[in-house]
Amino acid sequence: MAPKAGGDTGKVNSAVYKDKTKPTDIRLSNINAAKAVSDAIRTSLGPRGMDKMIQASNGEVTITNDGATILKQMSVIHPAAKMLVELSRAQDIEAGDGTTSVVVIAGALLDASEKLLQKGIHPTVISDGFQKALQIALQVVEGMSTPVDLTNEDALLKAAATSLNSKVVSQHSTILAPIAVQAIRAVMEPIVGGVGARVDLRDVKVTERIGGTVEDTELVQGLVIPHRAANVNGPHRIEKAKVGLIQFCISPPKTDMDHNVIVSDYAAMDRVLKEERQYILNIVKQIKKAGCTVLLVQKSILRDALSDLAIHFLDKIKTMVIKDIEREDIEFVCKTLGCRPIASLDHFTAENLVNVDLVEEINEPGGKYIKMTGCANGGRTVSVVVRGSSGAVVAEAARSLHDALCAVRCVARRPALVAGGGAPEAAAAAALARAAIAAPGAHHYTLRAYSDALEVVPSTLAENAGLNPIETVTELRAAHAAAASGAGVNVRRGRVTDMRQEHVLQPLHVTASALALATETVRAILKIDDIVNTVN
Ligand code: ADP
Ligand code: MG
Repeated sequence: MAPKAGGDTGKVNSAVYKDKTKPTDIRLSNINAAKAVSDAIRTSLGPRGMDKMIQASNGEVTITNDGATILKQMSVIHPAAKMLVELSRAQDIEAGDGTTSVVVIAGALLDASEKLLQKGIHPTVISDGFQKALQIALQVVEGMSTPVDLTNEDALLKAAATSLNSKVVSQHSTILAPIAVQAIRAVMEPIVGGVGARVDLRDVKVTERIGGTVEDTELVQGLVIPHRAANVNGPHRIEKAKVGLIQFCISPPKTDMDHNVIVSDYAAMDRVLKEERQYILNIVKQIKKAGCTVLLVQKSILRDALSDLAIHFLDKIKTMVIKDIEREDIEFVCKTLGCRPIASLDHFTAENLVNVDLVEEINEPGGKYIKMTGCANGGRTVSVVVRGSSGAVVAEAARSLHDALCAVRCVARRPALVAGGGAPEAAAAAALARAAIAAPGAHHYTLRAYSDALEVVPSTLAENAGLNPIETVTELRAAHAAAASGAGVNVRRGRVTDMRQEHVLQPLHVTASALALATETVRAILKIDDIVNTVN
């Protein structure tokens, strides 16, 4: 609360005037809360950044370096701090990578705006100034980017590798980066008459398996179903398979309501069993008649999709049956195999089945799973099986792969790369500092403040790598003043070098989106002058 104005002698006028401290207090409290969030994840930025161990209330432990994951799991109460959590999520959706950077930049911009507010500059002026600064920064970053050709696998590999550099699993980037590139190249559709390509990440299915090491991660041009076949005594490997996907059950139907059927004598019981047998047999006969050798069954929530009797018959006709295909996976399965789901027995005919070269049940120490490869008329999706020695490792490997996939997708969407290691931020900072000199009035301060704030990226990268941040940033400033636009923090050699020669390249879209989203959030926080709680 604002202090009560004027004491006993307070006049109405002075009270009104003093009340204006409330918006300032709210603004400062918002800024501090949001800054606290940003400070919490600063240490994870970059290849030498630290990892966080997150313990959930149920005792589950996550080890991660990914900004979005850390923030998602943090219990944040202050509404302004929540905006930074949202910011990281927005970056995750928009670009998929750069989720730590975006929050670190926002934190630095908030710090800068706090100082500007203390100078007496109006929040709206700061907000407008930041918007102008963003335009300049984006121009600089775009100007220093190099266009890439999507057929150039090498450029895509560099983007994936840079994204993996900063992960717990970075030592496996020689395996994961090519997988990310191949996966995206397999599913991307070039935009006709435009630049870039469209990529739907839902076409890349990542399956996590415990067992082996991350080195054993593989790309499968086909379908992977993470559980075993339902057969008891059926085939484990079928070549030249005819696959059908059904949405009905092969088990006795259940009544709609709670009915009781009382069977009083053996003859009647026999009749019931016979009836059931006949019902199942009829379905299985139709399956055999259509020539189906692999049957996929959608998961049913009403009853067991397969009765024991059905499994018995399917074993006999040597049809591999895989049950519990999740409802939400049906679309992916259809796209992969090039089939349509069969909703009723009447439609279970040979023309609704699809050819697959090889279906096999693979037995690993970590459990069995099904792999289908060589889909005749599908193949518009890919699957990746991520392996690792423990649950935490596999989960982090999958998250890192997600970032790498997103980085490659960003290049596909906007085919341009910029140097990493804080180079774009330093270049933009240098340009803004130059622009500030000529800027009139308060704009001079806002541009300067924005310029200083951007230096948080190289300075944090240096700090996390154990270098002297002030020395590094001054060296970087000098390099960019001499217009060496690729100069960045080389964490391996511990000094400033041209990051393009180090092959540290990242998608332009990741950097541009991080700058734009961070600025937008900071502007929104600045505009808030009160927090109102609802009645209930
Ligand atoms: P984010 O979640 O924001 O992607 P990261 O921890 O992945 O955060 O760090 C990304 C930052 O690390 C980027 O600024 C990128 O340029 C930088 N970076 C990545 N690899 C290197 C490297 N080899 N040398 C210097 N900086 C690097
Ligand atoms: Mg990253």
